[in-house]
Amino acid sequence: MANYFQPEIECASAEEIRAMQDERLVKQVKHVYDNVKMYRDRMDEMGIKPEDIKSVDDLKKLPFTTKDDLREQYPYGLLAVPKEDVVRIHSTSGTTGRRVVAFYTQHDIDLWDECCARALVAAGGSKEDVVHVCYGYGLFTGGAGLNGGSHKLGSMTLPMSSGNTERQIQFMADLGSTILCCTPSYAAFLAEAIEERGMADKLKLKSGIFGAEAWTEEMRHDIEDKLGIKAFDIYGLTEISGPGVSFECEEQTGMHINEDHFIAEIIDPNTGEVLPDGEKGELVFTSITKEAFPLLRYRTRDICILNRKKCSCGRTHVKMTKPLGRSDDMLIVKGVNVFPSQIETVLLNKGYTPNYQIIATRSKHSDNLEVLVEKTPDMANCSDEVLAAKNRQLVSALKGMLGILAEVRFVDAKSIERSEGKAVRVIDKRNLYKG
Ligand SMILES: [Zn+2]
Repeated sequence: MANYFQPEIECASAEEIRAMQDERLVKQVKHVYDNVKMYRDRMDEMGIKPEDIKSVDDLKKLPFTTKDDLREQYPYGLLAVPKEDVVRIHSTSGTTGRRVVAFYTQHDIDLWDECCARALVAAGGSKEDVVHVCYGYGLFTGGAGLNGGSHKLGSMTLPMSSGNTERQIQFMADLGSTILCCTPSYAAFLAEAIEERGMADKLKLKSGIFGAEAWTEEMRHDIEDKLGIKAFDIYGLTEISGPGVSFECEEQTGMHINEDHFIAEIIDPNTGEVLPDGEKGELVFTSITKEAFPLLRYRTRDICILNRKKCSCGRTHVKMTKPLGRSDDMLIVKGVNVFPSQIETVLLNKGYTPNYQIIATRSKHSDNLEVLVEKTPDMANCSDEVLAAKNRQLVSALKGMLGILAEVRFVDAKSIERSEGKAVRVIDKRNLYKG
């Protein structure tokens, strides 16, 4: 029976992994040079020939790829195989400008499914499991990725997609779902709904794989407590394949990158210089096995740290931290970098729910930050004085974390719109990024 724990690859020595990467990179650079005009033009301009790339050490000679490149090359500019070899596309949920479309051959789908199967195994999955996938299906890679991984593993797969909470919980109970796959905000939402209905005892959930948006350790503990499961992180992006580029193991201290398929680098986001392992910088991926949409040195905009310390699970593939910030989500308020995850940490530490919204406004020449926080049930009958005191405490805790003043406005419980996909955490009304 297929077992997608693959020790010969996932526990290979550093030398074995490097040898595999060297060979695949050399082949991939030739494929890309021969078939993608943008890369050929750039390499010609830089005076680099495919034969100059002999190993991973030469990676830094290659040009970066950015999200803007992907938009400019839309739709077919970066396609590296004849159109008739493509079996599927996926696309990112871009809010501005052109979307990004990624292409897959059957070989690409098989490798992606394998990566997701490894993630399920690391979360305790096997053929005996019932895998409940409530990531969105369709153009988004979440549903398709975990669905494919679950098939590869031979698990019974429930392609639930998102929404219809009643049906989600009913199926979980009736069919005995054991592994839940969705965004962490939807998991938190489901956990709340299950608690309200007193259904927790009727479920067989043992673990969950939650990705596609930023979440904190506090949110992990919240979901784990409410659902009585172990919650695992997973990372990926459509440009590189989808979920499963890296995944968490039982140690829950970072995500193993599937190094047989992707080479990871950390760079200084300002200079592009490659930084040593252990330093914080922008994560960059080169896909060395993809056929249809192979990207060289793709800048993810995620700020991470790579860690090669020995992992107790036995896997040797390098681990990445959760993204510690994302230049896209990062707000600069009064000259200070503010990440939504920092605010979430404070709220959960202070006993509030992870349902919040951050509103940035600008009056004359000053930026203002307001955080909408849902009241907890025990606050429903509090006097105005008590509420004011709680408000001051929270403002002070936020100031400690952010270094700047953020106003807090308490709103009624459950009044902030719940997310069934990616949560809208930040509303920037300053019109700084238009054009
Ligand atoms: Zn591990």
